[in-house]
Amino acid sequence: MRQPLVIANWKMHGKSAFNEALVTDFLAKLMAGRAECVLCPPSVYLGQIAGLLDSSDVMLGAQDCSHIDEGAYTGEVSAEMLRDCGCTWVIVGHSERRQYHQESDALLAAKLAMAQRAGLTPVLCVGETQEQREAGEAEQVVRAQLLGALDDLSDYRHLAIAYEPVWAIGTGLTASPEQAQAMHEFIRDVMRELDARSAESLRLLYGGSVKPGNASELFAQADIDGALVGGASLDAEAFAAIVSAA
Ligand code: 13P
Repeated sequence: MRQPLVIANWKMHGKSAFNEALVTDFLAKLMAGRAECVLCPPSVYLGQIAGLLDSSDVMLGAQDCSHIDEGAYTGEVSAEMLRDCGCTWVIVGHSERRQYHQESDALLAAKLAMAQRAGLTPVLCVGETQEQREAGEAEQVVRAQLLGALDDLSDYRHLAIAYEPVWAIGTGLTASPEQAQAMHEFIRDVMRELDARSAESLRLLYGGSVKPGNASELFAQADIDGALVGGASLDAEAFAAIVSAA
């Protein structure tokens, strides 16, 4: 039985006062439930959020990490630094990083290894664009992303995967529960090829316009083990409702 996992990706949103109000309100509204929960604020606020989460079970994560351990790499933040700031999770390969920062599968493979070496659990994001789906290439694209980033990984147990169809991110369009389940099932099959034993316990999250109104239906699918939530995670009530639905 896989424990549900719900992760907030704040992206580049939030400032100190807003963050404090959001987290305080969210913790007050969060009801004890089955799901594990992680907040991923912008990295400059990790210390602030670590303090706010101090006495709760909610965990801290980052939105990205460097593929290098340390050195003269201006602007980079290493996985070890994130661990040092209290993170236990890190998002790797979000489609916005693939798109705006040209992150390749080879780079992501290095980030995954670096994250695990530092003691972080990476969440690898995969997903096809609208054009790729319309061309009937969605599975092929996702399979290539998985194999490209995961082929050399030695530890498949400290890992989660988020399926985020690019056309559903921030658009209000959500994959139907059946569409999402079909891709999650496909992803688990690909993971069985890589490591049959860990594939059953690997948590697969859906991301793309998840809201309180569609979360339950998505979570009811056999291979959907939680969500990676963008916009709705900036609203305490909405995010608490999504976590409760898991
Ligand atoms: P939205 O929930 O805003 O569509 O964003 C999804 C996402 O990209 C989470 O990583």
